Amino acid sequence: MNSTYFAELILPLNLEGTFTYHLTDSDLQQIKIGQRVAVPFGTQKLYTGIIHSIHQNKPELYKTKGIHAFLDDEPIVTPFQIQFWEWISSYYMCTLGDVFRNAFPSALKLESQTFVRLINSDYENLHELNDNEYLVFEALKLRQIISVEEAALIIDAKSAIPTLKLLIDRGIIQLDEKIQEKYTPKIDNYVRIHPDIKGNDQAFIQILDSLNRAQKQRESLLQLITLETQNQGKPLKVADFVKMGSTSAVIKSLAEKGAVEIYQFQTSRVDENETEKEEIHQLTLKQNEVLNQIKEEFATKNTVLLHGVTSSGKTEIYLKLMEQVIAKGNKVIYLLPEISVTTQIVHRIKKHFGEKVGVYHSKFNQNERVELWQKILKGDFDIIIGPRNVLFMPFDQVGLVIVDEEHESSYKQMDTKPFFQARDMAMVLGSMIKAKVLLGSATPSIESYFNARQGKYGYVELTERFGKIQLPEINLVDLKKAQREKEITHDISHILRDEIIEQLKEKKQVILFQNRRGYAPIMECNSCGNTPECPNCDVSLTYHKFSNQLKCHYCGYAQAKPNRCVSCGSIELNTKGLGTEQIEHQLQEIFPEARIRRMDVDAMRGKFAYEKLIEDFENKEVDILIGTQMITKGFDFGNVNFVGVIRADSLLNFPDFRAHEKAFQLLTQVSGRAGRRAEQGKVLIQSYQPEHQILQNVTTYNYHQTMKDIIYERKEFFYPPFTRLINLRFKHTNKERLDKTAAQLVQLLKPNFDNRCLLGPEAPSVGRINNQYITDVMIKILPNQSPIKVKELIKKQIERLHTIAAYRSVKIDIDVDPM
Ligand code: ADP
Ligand code: ZN
Ligand code: ZN
Repeated sequence: MNSTYFAELILPLNLEGTFTYHLTDSDLQQIKIGQRVAVPFGTQKLYTGIIHSIHQNKPELYKTKGIHAFLDDEPIVTPFQIQFWEWISSYYMCTLGDVFRNAFPSALKLESQTFVRLINSDYENLHELNDNEYLVFEALKLRQIISVEEAALIIDAKSAIPTLKLLIDRGIIQLDEKIQEKYTPKIDNYVRIHPDIKGNDQAFIQILDSLNRAQKQRESLLQLITLETQNQGKPLKVADFVKMGSTSAVIKSLAEKGAVEIYQFQTSRVDENETEKEEIHQLTLKQNEVLNQIKEEFATKNTVLLHGVTSSGKTEIYLKLMEQVIAKGNKVIYLLPEISVTTQIVHRIKKHFGEKVGVYHSKFNQNERVELWQKILKGDFDIIIGPRNVLFMPFDQVGLVIVDEEHESSYKQMDTKPFFQARDMAMVLGSMIKAKVLLGSATPSIESYFNARQGKYGYVELTERFGKIQLPEINLVDLKKAQREKEITHDISHILRDEIIEQLKEKKQVILFQNRRGYAPIMECNSCGNTPECPNCDVSLTYHKFSNQLKCHYCGYAQAKPNRCVSCGSIELNTKGLGTEQIEHQLQEIFPEARIRRMDVDAMRGKFAYEKLIEDFENKEVDILIGTQMITKGFDFGNVNFVGVIRADSLLNFPDFRAHEKAFQLLTQVSGRAGRRAEQGKVLIQSYQPEHQILQNVTTYNYHQTMKDIIYERKEFFYPPFTRLINLRFKHTNKERLDKTAAQLVQLLKPNFDNRCLLGPEAPSVGRINNQYITDVMIKILPNQSPIKVKELIKKQIERLHTIAAYRSVKIDIDVDPM
């Protein structure tokens, strides 16, 4: 066939560029940019592609293929998204396919290996089905689940995708996935005298008489009456009643006889389906002033940094601003660090904006993701909340993007391509769709602070807490001194211990922070000094007491804890270092009465473990919460007046140019969890180096000085914001080949860079993960260089490197703006 029209497609492949397919006349009638189509690629496979553009430039070098099927009538990807994806691919140096794969819910990618499941076996309008649909329907009635490939065999066609699509639209089948349960808040059973007999003496006596031969039930009923009088209407849990002498069987019989009633009500505030909306709080004078300043800055700047101390009411200001943006008919994107750790804020927003709020959960399954995508496409929401990947949603008419806790490192995607920074991307998106961007934090990142100081962003500061409550008083505890004077039990100094006792006495809850999980990061043999290491990674194994295992935190490898040293056989094995699990044990020993819970990735494994713990904490069923940095993110608990840091040292001594910035942010944020309601809170930070400048600055809330010092160092040593970084990470199972390849690329790049700007190859602190050796080459781009040219150069030299077969097998991950 001699086509004159062609379409460029985005395919989910790790190959550069778009792919050309020819179009038939009938294709031309229905084609729209942003539609999904199924196309053949390679020998056999069908892929889902997105129409990127249409043109008449016939490729000269190869024969094009045609489009197999259209999967949508209307575009499912917006023109703006395609433009955004292109920017991401070029800035972060990855393929369009990489972006597509990350951006697009995989359930929308009907592919050969996808499975479909029958969800409506009672479908009645069989006469509406075409022959192929009917065949697949019949097959599914027998088997429930089949793959897309099998469906093609059944209908004897090259592809079953068009047929399956029809069946999906009819609600007969869906793409298969294990259905994930939704979180239902904890519900307790309560018991009371049945309302029908309460106060009705006659009915009551009748029941009592009928219980003459059931002494236990009779006693329980009488006891319940007494309790209800004593409790003055306070609800009684079934579980508590059982503790007082009744039994579940007795209560059940009484309920069956209509003597008592078992009922439930939600104890939780973490409730997704709340219907009643609440008014947004009236802003204070100060907060209102800040709101006005933000709007003034937006008049001339696209980005504004709101620097407001913890608990100053930043969230309240966001709410107000969102309300105003929505009133003008625009939408809002609200970016959060990690959705799972921010239940509280989602709840606060939903309370005011109800069902007009769309929430993107990283725990969503594929079908939920598709549903959200389609709702956003239809414009169903005023506010879309989510972690970094929410930026890939197909929204329109956005007036404002809020980046909450903008300093958070979880805005950077590190595990899959593209390795993007959502805060930075939000600003690009903002300028593309003409939306304003508000960055907010109590401890802004160096980059944002610097840009604000340079006048690139607007800058607004809020220095007092809501209710004029003083920021917590932060004191340092010198661990060396405590040990010298024996003023310490295990790792809890007596100053810290006494403060906790005081808090518990006043029925306050306590939050404690320790930046390491597990029991102890290192096991060591006392006789020979041997330390068990991971067989797959160059890292020592962490001891987990609860499971009695040694675990690798990099690859997940686990082994039972050995009883003897594998090297010399000695039984004297010691642990070194301090993890949350160990602190939990120590606390349990020191405070045997206290209800202690732990929050770290190990303790939060189960689904909704996090939500449950938050709920228990809010319901005051927890006295002491010990956790890793999970506990620092935006918690707003009223009953916490005191926060303790077990050991600040590992934060300070981290080998990374961001270590001091992060330590300051983290410690300030942890401290900010104390004293958020009525009175000034207190914080104790234990450390072996209390004289450390960062710790000193934390205690005096000296953010500006800290940033000034750090900015000075960054300038001295050529780090951002004075340079831009690109890290080339080489990975291979053969160390020799790895090193050779990296060295070769450095040779190729050398002529174009100053010595100070091309570093490595150098192995990172963990030089082998999962049997892959790793080495890094770091490139610094100076302000007078064009980042685009540098990126082109890197690409060109990698291509040159790859002309030699031996180098090609070494994987190179390019990380632009590494964190
Ligand atoms: P931030 O986001 O700066 O940490 P929040 O917005 O969480 O601060 O405010 C801290 C606490 O004070 C919250 O419980 C919030 O509801 C309350 N608060 C702040 N501003 C007001 C206000 N204007 N009216 C009523 N409550 C407020
Ligand atoms: Zn040994
Ligand atoms: Zn490992």
